Amino acid sequence: RQVSPEMIKNDIKEQNIQFLRLMFTDILGTIKNVEVPVSQIDKVLDGQMMFDGCSIEGFVRISESDMYLKPDLNTWLIFPWETETSTPAKVARLICDVYHANGKVFKGDPRGNLKRVLKEAEELGFTEFNLGPEPEFFLLKFDEDGKVTDTLNDNGGYFDLAPNDLAENCRRDIVLELQALGFEIEASHHEAAPGQHEIDWQYAGAIEACDNIQTFKLIVKTVARKHNLHATFMPKPIEGINGSGMHMNVSLFKGEENAFVDEDGETLSIDAGHFIAGLIDHAMGLTAITNPIVNSYKRLIPGFEAPTSIAWSGQNRTPMIRIPSSRGKSTRIEVRSVDPSANPYLAMACILKAGLQGIKDKMEAPQPKNQNMYDLNEKELEEEGIKQLPSTLKEAINELKASPLMQDALGDHIYTHFVKMKELEWKEYSASVSEWEKDRYLELY
Ligand code: ADP
Ligand code: GLU
Ligand code: MG
Ligand code: MG
Repeated sequence: RQVSPEMIKNDIKEQNIQFLRLMFTDILGTIKNVEVPVSQIDKVLDGQMMFDGCSIEGFVRISESDMYLKPDLNTWLIFPWETETSTPAKVARLICDVYHANGKVFKGDPRGNLKRVLKEAEELGFTEFNLGPEPEFFLLKFDEDGKVTDTLNDNGGYFDLAPNDLAENCRRDIVLELQALGFEIEASHHEAAPGQHEIDWQYAGAIEACDNIQTFKLIVKTVARKHNLHATFMPKPIEGINGSGMHMNVSLFKGEENAFVDEDGETLSIDAGHFIAGLIDHAMGLTAITNPIVNSYKRLIPGFEAPTSIAWSGQNRTPMIRIPSSRGKSTRIEVRSVDPSANPYLAMACILKAGLQGIKDKMEAPQPKNQNMYDLNEKELEEEGIKQLPSTLKEAINELKASPLMQDALGDHIYTHFVKMKELEWKEYSASVSEWEKDRYLELY
């Protein structure tokens, strides 16, 4: 889709749009936005909208804080709802790239960074790096004071129908809103845990797909709120039941051809094997980015359909990488370790970098592992040559610090700020005393 300034101005005139949201994503993956009245449209289209970069976590120092937003016109989108102002109006958004006052690309912008890494794929002859994400989320109730609780809104299970699936209508409303925004929804269902849901939509090129993830989260949260529910993408909100993943299905295309499958449409290509090998080789350094919060590591444990081991397989859901059985154009690598707290732009940059390194070095993938990884003990894992994913954020940060390739994938600015923020997070967590500790130790000692 190619959107021109004229099309945007036309929409503004015809559809009673009064506000423009200019969006971008910070290093931690949070969507940020400034809203301006439509009277500012010329300034917006001209890339002259300025904001204060030092107020954004991990962006810049106060002495160099003037930053500019240059909109990507193809992300033009009109929200289907009207404002609750005295005269209802419509709001539209544009996703923006971030620039310095001197016109240079800001290296701390995750979206801009992904564009940089995508160029390396192009140099190797790949025209598109596709992503089909599968974000899972929980719907939680509020208490009387309007505070989010950890009470799940239903007791449903995988693919359940009403009356178990009380969220059916909330999920339908989410789907309808997303469709109104142009999402091609492929599936919407109750997930395995009570209160847990998944909505999948059609894959796209990396930048568009990451933009879609950010839009998706915003819509899910907004619609859930209208149903008096809170949607959380926290990876493991409740112990003892499944957590939420955001499996990333990825493929490289050359023109119309899927480079992960041979001409017969059935056999995985040699490049697919190399890509898998690269991912496995860099899995340790990658994990701080795909699983960036303390809580992420409470999901990556045996028994809950989340991966624990660095291996690949066909139908097995216990290793980090699965190759779904679809072939032809849908041939893809499913990276199952990723969770929805990950910044999608950073996760895609690191996954691509790792996979491309495998292709460049013609790395050989290990044999696929079809046994249930949860059942293997330490000795058996060692005999099979299978490493375990990092088990804490601290371990993952240390692995990232030991991986020059992953640092390259992030660029200096993002790498330095990311590690600084995450080390602080770990320090705060280490100093906290949990309910579990109190239950276990208060009376015992
Ligand atoms: P699962 O096998 O885990 O149930 P789903 O069918 O739920 O997978 O999700 C598959 C996702 O993969 C969808 O978003 C779909 O659009 C996407 N997909 C299909 N073909 C490709 C491809 N060639 N590259 C990337 N993603 C793809
Ligand atoms: N919720 C599981 C996870 O944590 C995944 C379930 C599924 O395979 O869809 O990754
Ligand atoms: Mg799922
Ligand atoms: Mg999946």
